[in-house]
Amino acid sequence: MRPDIIVIGGGTVGAAIAYGLAKQRQQVLLLDGDDGDFRAARANFGLVWLQGKGLGMPAYQVLTRDSIALWRGFTNEIEAETKIDLAYEQNGGLAFCLGEEGFEKRRHDLMRLHNQRGERAPDWAMLDRSALERLLPKVALGPNVTGASFGRHDGHANPLRLLAALHEALLRHGGGIRHRARVERIEPVGRDFRLILDGETLVAPRIVIAAGLGSPALARQVGLVVPLRPERGQVLVTERLEPFLPLPASGLRQTGEGTVMIGATKDNPGFDVSTTAEAAAGLSRKTIEIVPALAQVRLVRQWAGLRIMTPDGHPIYAQSQSHPGAFVALCHSGVTLAAFHAETLAGAIAAGGLPENLSPFHQRRFDVPQAA
Ligand SMILES: Cc1cc2nc3c(=O)[nH]c(=O)nc-3n(C[C@H](O)[C@H](O)[C@H](O)COP(=O)(O)OP(=O)(O)OC[C@H]3O[C@@H](n4cnc5c(N)ncnc54)[C@H](O)[C@@H]3O)c2cc1C
Repeated sequence: MRPDIIVIGGGTVGAAIAYGLAKQRQQVLLLDGDDGDFRAARANFGLVWLQGKGLGMPAYQVLTRDSIALWRGFTNEIEAETKIDLAYEQNGGLAFCLGEEGFEKRRHDLMRLHNQRGERAPDWAMLDRSALERLLPKVALGPNVTGASFGRHDGHANPLRLLAALHEALLRHGGGIRHRARVERIEPVGRDFRLILDGETLVAPRIVIAAGLGSPALARQVGLVVPLRPERGQVLVTERLEPFLPLPASGLRQTGEGTVMIGATKDNPGFDVSTTAEAAAGLSRKTIEIVPALAQVRLVRQWAGLRIMTPDGHPIYAQSQSHPGAFVALCHSGVTLAAFHAETLAGAIAAGGLPENLSPFHQRRFDVPQAA
């Protein structure tokens, strides 16, 4: 059957949009590349996170907040449909502070963010060391820990199960998925888009480009210039431990299975997913400063992934002006924004256009007038 819409890219972003479109009774086909591609969806940390996000871009603060408000209902629905437990918990989240200066800086940064929108009451609080100790009775904190910021809306989930559930739910709603289906070229033909794959051509009246770092080359062919760069993030994982950390922290979270995830670094070596001893040492040092007992546990894994970064770090959502019906969706917080992508964004794409409140996310914000 000819699809109403083809989504290119089966990572967390593309899969969430495709699932949402299928729920809107669209005939959806999801095309995904292969294991040689850079795949952020299989490398991420699993935070569903608000605190600290959106400085300089109030619309991103709102978007993140809206997505998190949808997350519980989204989880209940997709778990009921697929029987896959996303392990979503929303008990709040922490950002540990080291030294008095670190504590004051965190308060100051969050206050700036808060004032940006002039809301009535902050949805975060600064916890001093004794309040933190009461919250984490099983953690012996390092001597330099002065406290933490506590974000009420923060949480975490299992990102690999999320990806599997999105694929499964898409199929249950009548959508199709093709793996190892790399789109090599897009040709606009009349009101349709012809997608050229290896030895095959597919046609649809609408397409969504959500191919992560593979997106710029595709988007250009439908008149969308999307500037992206890869940002490497490295993560460490420990052996399974008895539960001791009841809520996630930025850079430290205990999974339902008991492993502790530590991360993630940020650097820019280009398209390079190698892991380094330097990153492992830096992450370990920082973690041991917060929880000294973790110096004794075994590390069982280290990996690196590439974040999908725009020049200002905020998402791109746009429809092509020259080729209406072609959309692009890119971001570096695809887990946090999954509920928004599946519910709100997919609904707008199904209706044929993006609403005005998403205009701050158009890629034209990066258009720089050429110097004469
Ligand atoms: C270290 C790290 C930690 C992170 N932590 C978090 C976190 O805690 N919380 C959070 O919300 N987010 C986090 N993220 C970000 C999150 O992982 C991504 O936003 C998310 O995976 C969505 O990515 P995506 O679907 O856009 O791209 P990807 O997952 O990279 O998927 C893109 C897909 O497109 C396919 N593709 C590429 N080119 C083509 C083509 N030509 N034709 C067909 N298919 C193609 C690829 O095969 C791939 O499967 C983290 C990322 C990293 C790297």
